[in-house]
Amino acid sequence: MARGRILFVSDLHLDAEAPLAIDQFISFLRTEARDCAALYILGDLFETWIGDDDDDPARGRIRAALAELTAGGVPCFIMHGNRDFLMGEEFMATSGCRLLPDPTVLERAGQRFVLTHGDTLCTGDRTYRRFRGVARSGIAQYCWRALPLAARRRLAAFIRRRSRIYTQHQPQSIMDVTPAAVAALLRSTRGDVLIHGHTHRPDVHHLHVEGRDCTRIVLGDWHGRGSALAIDEDGRCTVLALQS
Ligand code: MN
Repeated sequence: MARGRILFVSDLHLDAEAPLAIDQFISFLRTEARDCAALYILGDLFETWIGDDDDDPARGRIRAALAELTAGGVPCFIMHGNRDFLMGEEFMATSGCRLLPDPTVLERAGQRFVLTHGDTLCTGDRTYRRFRGVARSGIAQYCWRALPLAARRRLAAFIRRRSRIYTQHQPQSIMDVTPAAVAALLRSTRGDVLIHGHTHRPDVHHLHVEGRDCTRIVLGDWHGRGSALAIDEDGRCTVLALQS
């Protein structure tokens, strides 16, 4: 791993309808991210992703800014979120980013950092788990890709509306991670620090897993104000509040 700090962001939910957030992200790529050792985007960079062939100019700007960063020598890794899990090879190739499997273990300063988007930790939401299984199946993705762009755009907007109504009517508890899922992941990966987003509840939690002291860091979303997590070469974590 290169020298310098590693940066983590997630849940930017970038969309042409919120151009300020896009500007903020692009300025983050050109300032804070420019001299970091690596940038990790842990899911939901985009509000929706209907396919790499989407010709939306706002997405094109973001792709170009990522390409500028990676061409400048900063490795950038992207994990799928529950919104943009259709991001594929073409986007990675043209932006210079690399797709990161969920979960991924990163070792730094003798610690094991487990990276995940976080949706699979919310095991209480059974309806979402069913949706996730269907949406990520090969057959569903094959059918989706066969649709023309305009139809995918309309369908994605419909699914977003339905999802918004659904989440508004769910109790807060099932929209958060379950302790058992967190412990199971830290156990199976022998992780020391778990880093995830998805829940939009930025915080640092301390817990014990099989007698070991572990930490769970929840990344903040980018609604209103951006935030990022930095891990320096000694493994120290700092939350960066970005200017709005
Ligand atoms: Mn998410």
